[in-house]
Amino acid sequence: MATMHAMVLDAPHTPLVMRERPVPAPGPGEIVVAVAACGVCRTDLHVVDGELEHPTLPIVPGHEIVGRVAALGQGVSGFSIGERVGVPWLGATCGVCPYCCSSTENLCDMPVFTGYTRDGGYATHAVADARFCFPLGEAGEDAEIAPWLCAGLIGWRSYRLAGEGKTLGLYGFGAAAHILAQVARWQGRRVFAFTRKGDTAAQDFARSLGAVWAGGSEEAPPEPLDAAIIFAPVGALVPAALKAVRKGGRVVCGGIHMSDIPSFPYSLLWEERHVMSVANLTRSDAHEFLQVAPKAGVHCEVTRYPLARANEALADLREGRLQGAAVLIP
Ligand SMILES: [Zn+2]
Ligand SMILES: [Zn+2]
Repeated sequence: MATMHAMVLDAPHTPLVMRERPVPAPGPGEIVVAVAACGVCRTDLHVVDGELEHPTLPIVPGHEIVGRVAALGQGVSGFSIGERVGVPWLGATCGVCPYCCSSTENLCDMPVFTGYTRDGGYATHAVADARFCFPLGEAGEDAEIAPWLCAGLIGWRSYRLAGEGKTLGLYGFGAAAHILAQVARWQGRRVFAFTRKGDTAAQDFARSLGAVWAGGSEEAPPEPLDAAIIFAPVGALVPAALKAVRKGGRVVCGGIHMSDIPSFPYSLLWEERHVMSVANLTRSDAHEFLQVAPKAGVHCEVTRYPLARANEALADLREGRLQGAAVLIP
């Protein structure tokens, strides 16, 4: 029997452990993907650190999977063996709830999430529902497009919901922001990058990707912003971003978890400013972004880690030691 390796989380707050197991057979509608690269997302950190409740334990994290189809389950059409595919965070939906029936499958009542409620891509192989996988073609290197599968897709949803404004603030200049800065520049928008106070390396990185201004998140931008997206998991950034946007401006929270938002005066919200969160993705977000990214020439800055060093990659992300995105290579 063929075997695979996976980095497994047995319980939150414990390091992932390398395990060997048989390669699962694909069920009806599923494919087995031989993983070529898997991005490390902040959400993985929230799972490992116990900030997201009720993961299916033990769990293999990872939902930015690029790999090749190794086996097709019964009834799968539209994919062939050896084809390069991407597997995202949204692993499956129920298809019948009010959200699934109204173009908001990202809010499905009975969702399955890759690397959270079903095993993900910190492994040599992963099983996925074929309806939620995307053909990736052959352009681009595996590791460099892995961050597209979450930072890109959910970043894109956040970006779209931030509206059409010409000036955009990005709070937390990590994987998602570094992708969106490139898309925004391509679309002729002006990006203002906010980083941890004094993180001049991240600020230089943001400017190198086309940000017209970069500074600490406590600073005021040189002009009012049309919208801001917050990727850093820091609730205090909500009032900070509200202060930075113009009348009618939007603040979009793009992360799955955030520390508590401190209370703030109503005057920050007044004048029709909006605050909203973005949850998950729809398949149509994915199709849109996968069209846009190559046209925009999105290039991901990645740091590669061997699969066995997943704990180190997570620690580097936690400590802010990364520029761009971490990617595991099995
Ligand atoms: Zn549903
Ligand atoms: Zn993610």
